[in-house]
Amino acid sequence: MVAEKMVRKAIMNIKPYVPGKPIEEVKRELGLDKVIKLASNENPLGTSPTAVEKMQERLERAHIYPDGNAYSLRAKLSSKLEVAQDQLIFGNGSDELLAYLGQTFIKSDDEVIMAETTFSEYEFTTNLMGGNLIKVPLKDYKHDLEEMVAAITEQTKMIFVCNPNNPTGTIVTSKEVEEFLEQVPDDVVVVFDEAYYEYVTNDDYPETIDYLSDYDNLIILRTFSKAYGLSGLRIGYGISNPELIDYLKRVRQPFNVNEIAQVGAYSSLDDKKHLEKTLEYNNQGKEYLYQQFEELGLDYIPTESNFIIVDVEESNDQIFDKLLKEGVIIRSLSSFGYQTKIRVTVGLPEENKAFIEALKKVL
Ligand SMILES: *Cc1c(COP(=O)(O)O)cnc(C)c1O
Repeated sequence: MVAEKMVRKAIMNIKPYVPGKPIEEVKRELGLDKVIKLASNENPLGTSPTAVEKMQERLERAHIYPDGNAYSLRAKLSSKLEVAQDQLIFGNGSDELLAYLGQTFIKSDDEVIMAETTFSEYEFTTNLMGGNLIKVPLKDYKHDLEEMVAAITEQTKMIFVCNPNNPTGTIVTSKEVEEFLEQVPDDVVVVFDEAYYEYVTNDDYPETIDYLSDYDNLIILRTFSKAYGLSGLRIGYGISNPELIDYLKRVRQPFNVNEIAQVGAYSSLDDKKHLEKTLEYNNQGKEYLYQQFEELGLDYIPTESNFIIVDVEESNDQIFDKLLKEGVIIRSLSSFGYQTKIRVTVGLPEENKAFIEALKKVL
């Protein structure tokens, strides 16, 4: 094929992202009426109703370009987080910010360190820019920050720390992070992906914003997709010092975050009740699932997020198919190198129950 000779070499290394199966697709393919999706860590309570109302109002002015600087949202978030307005950048999902990180920092043959079992988009952005990935195995399902430091070379440009880690739900503690930051050279960018920040209940979880004053090489990523229930609108943000934010902004499209998403994010921040309820349901759901797994004699990994890994002790791909036929979509973790582990998002009480019933049936 001529095309193969035309594309950049880096493109040949890119594997397509495998998303959670959409509900409608499963209904269509298997002829099912009722399907529940516990596969993509979405908020089972949905979007904040007040945010939906505000977004509907804004829809009538869809002919107007969005505010490219996200003025209102930026002001609100900066006062909430107690950072300056120029310490924030917004993206069409934090996924887009991951792409910006690659475009801003990673050049051909730079080394990028990430955990072996973590969110796949770090690999994507590195490969896209022709960087070299250095994968460090997890230790007890957690990021092994000591080994990640040991992997640093002259070529290292960036280190990704997913905290809590997707798909294991584990965290690294403030003590571990502080020791780690002390050892990372100041010309290596450290990215903390905190997509599940709101869900963490462990007191040892680091408040990484506090480290920004001591370290000029930190970037924190968060999102409105998970606890704030706006996955479908695509909006996330990065927090760093004004200088790094300024560089990241140079690769940004002028209107990268649509206005509906900005309005949705703004109103979601106001709807504290919805977030509280979300976290309450998640904590109860976690406890219920732990208890059920224990009764079934299945090992699970205690989680600091809204998803849990459970070891079903047989082929995860087969369990995935069988659960699908029962109308329950989960994630098989075979693509992460696990043969018998699945990942399930904590759902509403009735969804968790339906999942457990289906699991009992197929095991
Ligand atoms: C879901 C997820 C994201 C992506 O979030 P978006 O803002 O929807 O792009 C980023 N990082 C991790 C670890 C995630 O699980």
